[in-house]
Amino acid sequence: GKRAFIAGVADDNGYGWAIAKALAAAGAEILVGTWVPALNIFETSLRRGKFDESRKLPNGSLMDIVKVYPLDAVYDTPDDVPEDVKTNKRYAGSSNWTVKEVAEAVTKDFGSIDILVHSLANGPEVTKPLLETSRRGYLAAISASSYSFVSLLQHFLPIMNPGGASISLTYIASERTIPGYGGGMSSAKAALESDTKVLAFEAGRKGQVRVNTISAGPLGSRAAKAIGF
Ligand code: NAD
Repeated sequence: GKRAFIAGVADDNGYGWAIAKALAAAGAEILVGTWVPALNIFETSLRRGKFDESRKLPNGSLMDIVKVYPLDAVYDTPDDVPEDVKTNKRYAGSSNWTVKEVAEAVTKDFGSIDILVHSLANGPEVTKPLLETSRRGYLAAISASSYSFVSLLQHFLPIMNPGGASISLTYIASERTIPGYGGGMSSAKAALESDTKVLAFEAGRKGQVRVNTISAGPLGSRAAKAIGF
């Protein structure tokens, strides 16, 4: 069977969860990466059976999430983490959540993966028009929503089996003007799409791994509701 690591699952409403279920239904082993600040509530809800109804697969069995890894995809190594984040209560309670450390933990636990899914994005100024977006907000959107994929693939490619596949989720606002999708999120998706082509070339040659992105339609996820979509 195949093993999949899905980055960006913190509840049962988003694309990451739906992709995890589809992969589980197809027989894959499911590992997820959950944003550190959302980890506690996600694990508690899982444990208490809050997601049992939505864990149901077409054959009646429940999706098994083999392991949940805390992850913050805006940090590549512990050296990148600022002091205020390190000491933040929600972060201090977990460890090894930078991209490099998560890849190392998965390597140690499972040795290899076949499928890498990037289903995460963040734009602190997403509700602001691009014309009113700060440099800081714009760069934060690119860091969390675009470079996070480069970093994940960079660190996971060495443990991806040849013939494996990686995928991310993009949005049509990269190509067409969608008012309300601000804060540099449209720019971040354009970068993600361009990077998909370059990384497909590079990762295809380096590791026989495919790189694709799906331009998804609107879904009432937590992230989408936060911007009134
Ligand atoms: P979601 O809220 O289910 O998923 C986004 C996840 O990203 C959350 O679990 C959040 O905790 C996580 N996250 C945020 N910052 C992170 C970080 N620094 N490190 C690790 N995780 C982090 O919402 P979704 O809408 O399902 O989003 C999944 C993907 O789908 C995103 O790339 C989004 O842009 C894309 N997408 C969504 C829609 C839509 O309408 N919902 C449309 C097209 C594309």
